[in-house]
Amino acid sequence: MRRKLAAGNWKMNGSVAALAQIEAMKPAATDAIDVLICPPALLVAQAATISGDIAVGGQDCHANASGAHTGDTSAVMLKEAGASHVITGHSERRTDHAESDENVAAKSQAAWDAGLIAVICIGETLDEREGGETLNVIGTQLAGSVPDGATAENTVVAYEPVWAIGTGKVPTLDQIGEVHDFMRAELEKRFGKDIAGGVRLLYGGSVKASNATEIFATSNVDGALVGGASLKADDFVPIMTAL
Ligand code: PGA
Repeated sequence: MRRKLAAGNWKMNGSVAALAQIEAMKPAATDAIDVLICPPALLVAQAATISGDIAVGGQDCHANASGAHTGDTSAVMLKEAGASHVITGHSERRTDHAESDENVAAKSQAAWDAGLIAVICIGETLDEREGGETLNVIGTQLAGSVPDGATAENTVVAYEPVWAIGTGKVPTLDQIGEVHDFMRAELEKRFGKDIAGGVRLLYGGSVKASNATEIFATSNVDGALVGGASLKADDFVPIMTAL
């Protein structure tokens, strides 16, 4: 039985004062679900001291544990700051920093090596969707971004169609279900039924309280990766409780 996961990605938003939102989310983080908030790296340590049962994660990590990489943060540092997860391969990283599947796999491996759970993101663009390429793209990104050695314990995969992120546009439930069923089947081919059956598959892209219940009821959806609606407890708690 896969535990549902409500994950929040604050992106480059938030502040020390905004950590009060995590405090306000805490009472809704019951035993029934897992909750994760990924604030900007600078806030991870402080968030981890107040988050209680809410897990804290980074939004990216370098593939190396340390070294001459100005401005980067390693998975080891995130772990030491109190993170348990790190997002890898978010489409904004893939676009803004030209991250390839190979980079994402190396970062995910670094996350595992540091003892973090990798939340590995994949998703098609609108052109790819309209060109009928969605499952090809998802298959390629999944194969290239998830390293050998994935387990139900060290890996979460998030399907985030690029065109649905921050746009208010959401795929139909059939489209979400089709991709999630496909991802499960692909993972099964590669890692076997036991491991693939335990890896949580999140949907991300314009999730909000009003669409969360139906998305969570969709085939092979084990939770959500939420951007905008994870910044405030008033928006995120109804999503948590919809799980
Ligand atoms: P959104 O972002 O919920 O604001 O669409 C999702 C994400 O980028 O993880």
